[in-house]
Amino acid sequence: MTSILHIAIPCPLRTVFDYINADSSITPQLGMRVLVSFRSRQLVGIIVGISTLRSEKQNAKLKTIEKIIDDQALIPKTTFELIQWVSDYYHHPMGECFQAALPKKLRQQEPAELKTEAYWALSSDQSEQKLGKKQQQIISYLADYSNAISQQQITIALGSCKSSLFSLEQKKLLTQQQQVKQILLNGDIQPYHILSKQQQYVVDTVWENHNSFNPYLLHGITGSGKTEVYIQLTKKIIEQGQQALILIPEIGLTTQFVQRFRQHLDANIVVLNSAVSDGDRKQAWLLARDGLADVVIGTRSAVFTPLKNIGVIIIDEEHDSSYKQQDGLRYHARSIALIRAQRAEIPIVLGSATPSLESLYNVEQGRYTQLTLTERATGAKLPKIRMVDSEGPTANSGISTILYKAIQQQISLDNQVLLFINRRGFAPVLMCHDCNWIASCTSCDAKMIVHQSRHILMCHHCGLIHRLIQYCPTCKTTELKTYGVGTQQLEQTLQQYFPETSVIRIDRDSTQKVNAFANIVADIQQGGAKILVGTQMLAKGHDFHNVTLVGVLDADQGLFSADFRATESLAQLITQVTGRAGRGEKAGEVFIQTSQPNHTFWKALIGHDYSYIAKTILQQRQQMGMPPAGSLCVIRAEDKQQSLAMLFLSEALEVFNQTHQQQVMILGPVPAIMEKRAGRYRAQLLLSCEQRKPIHQLLDHSIDAISKLKLARKVRWSIDIDPVDLM
Ligand code: ADP
Ligand code: ZN
Ligand code: ZN
Repeated sequence: MTSILHIAIPCPLRTVFDYINADSSITPQLGMRVLVSFRSRQLVGIIVGISTLRSEKQNAKLKTIEKIIDDQALIPKTTFELIQWVSDYYHHPMGECFQAALPKKLRQQEPAELKTEAYWALSSDQSEQKLGKKQQQIISYLADYSNAISQQQITIALGSCKSSLFSLEQKKLLTQQQQVKQILLNGDIQPYHILSKQQQYVVDTVWENHNSFNPYLLHGITGSGKTEVYIQLTKKIIEQGQQALILIPEIGLTTQFVQRFRQHLDANIVVLNSAVSDGDRKQAWLLARDGLADVVIGTRSAVFTPLKNIGVIIIDEEHDSSYKQQDGLRYHARSIALIRAQRAEIPIVLGSATPSLESLYNVEQGRYTQLTLTERATGAKLPKIRMVDSEGPTANSGISTILYKAIQQQISLDNQVLLFINRRGFAPVLMCHDCNWIASCTSCDAKMIVHQSRHILMCHHCGLIHRLIQYCPTCKTTELKTYGVGTQQLEQTLQQYFPETSVIRIDRDSTQKVNAFANIVADIQQGGAKILVGTQMLAKGHDFHNVTLVGVLDADQGLFSADFRATESLAQLITQVTGRAGRGEKAGEVFIQTSQPNHTFWKALIGHDYSYIAKTILQQRQQMGMPPAGSLCVIRAEDKQQSLAMLFLSEALEVFNQTHQQQVMILGPVPAIMEKRAGRYRAQLLLSCEQRKPIHQLLDHSIDAISKLKLARKVRWSIDIDPVDLM
């Protein structure tokens, strides 16, 4: 029978498209991929609805499906429904939501088939035969295992041995079978740490109720052994035949983190992040879907991975802003993970040393259970923090005399020092002393940053590059001066101060090459590099045992930012950076250089701890009705013409006003704080409400009409639900 298929197509339109299915060889199912012609292009879409044809007239108007790609649903039901929820909640076109949820190769027409590889085992008949050396090695290697071993693993252990394997097969000493290809080989299993009482309590508590939805906030100070807790919990879950989904932030930590899981779990682990090849990502996704991977470790988008028998979700560093996607489908992986856990009726553990205000608020409201780890697992003490006045630093170097002396002392004791400055490049300003000319970007409302080693000026917002000039373009004669300090300058200065000591810089510029970051981390761990200068890339998660001094330079930026989340982020950052010191046997200390040593923020941070500051900020937010106490949505627009973005948003405002939704407060439209970026003028409209629902109702009623505005096709615009960034 001919049916009509409703197809989600990857395009910005907020609707599904109907096609006729004339092919009777495959019964269409929700979640299958189809090939359709759409605006004279061939696109892969997903079947999201099936209905019967009502009249021949209807038939005449519709195009026919080109092909059904899958012979069974690619996307399992739970994932399918999750993506529909995502499309509803974020008011984002369904076709694009499916795109975001699938690995690249499955967005295309590639068959959803798992790759296999040869597995080898000794046959039951081991008669005496004359064997070559390699052949003997293979026999004795396989004798250690009771199950079949993959050719990949044998090759890694013994070197290339393909022909020997096949001749052993001919001699009937080995048997071969094709099995699904796993991506990571199992590591050498090492003994577990015996958990501390606090750690054990956390594992036991989560385990006790692991058959129902229970959200936990695991607040454990830096180095308190959270990762160890994740591993033990995962072990219990997979031992009863279930799978674990573990999300980690988008920083260079994956290798270290995965390594620890591999060392402690005899399990099939797959990794999903941007460093994994497209082929492996597809394999990993399918392994997880079919229940053949026990543990999925991935960044933000891994939250969509289907898991046949999911038993727990763990989010490490749950406060990290990389869980929020900032373009396209602007989702928050933590929010989606919570919905997933609720629907699957499983526990979810949100771990952090610096929990987000969202999660702390949910604890306060009784929605999450808080679990705490208050001591470092190794027994090390948290370092002391000292404020240092940055006024009068040594010859404009950016380093105060007190900090300089502290560095000198630690170096002489053969310890490592970490200096943190949140600005890459050499200097943030290039300026003429006579006429006040400043090097600015022509496409953005921003200054150009001096990158001295490459002899360029670079805009960090749009990537525009100019040659570094020596003389002022306005008054021609005067030499230009730089102001402020970036990572490159700090590196140079320190190398001059300490010529005998190896200084290493870790920022986006120094880690662009493949493996650069991993190599640097290895160098630090082996103790080669003594002074480490870095941006926030270095602030999180790392476990360097020999760092005894951490210096935070130019920490004031966050105190005066227009962003309402700035103080929260600053408190998290400082706490995280602080956590890098004194992790090993030697005690650590932290110096924070500020021009505002008496600011209440710093007083609170030194006198109390992160929890105290977080509570204070949360109270302020509650008084202002700001998230997490209230709900926000930003409608953004941008265009090359200055007036159009504002004009579009004014028209959108009119549409909103027609719905008479009184509960939602609408602010704007206003130009964005950095109005011009990459040649486009940006503006925004802010919707705010004490509750979440009225905002969604308002959007549900208005988005269609707004999409139909003439300007909606002209300007770029987007909806950002629960924005983390209002800048
Ligand atoms: P976090 O994830 O909270 O920062 P980690 O799990 O990385 O903490 O643990 C910090 C350090 O303490 C690591 O070197 C880890 O091997 C060690 N560690 C964790 N748990 C224990 C334990 N129960 N006994 C001894 N050492 C531990
Ligand atoms: Zn000048
Ligand atoms: Zn720019």
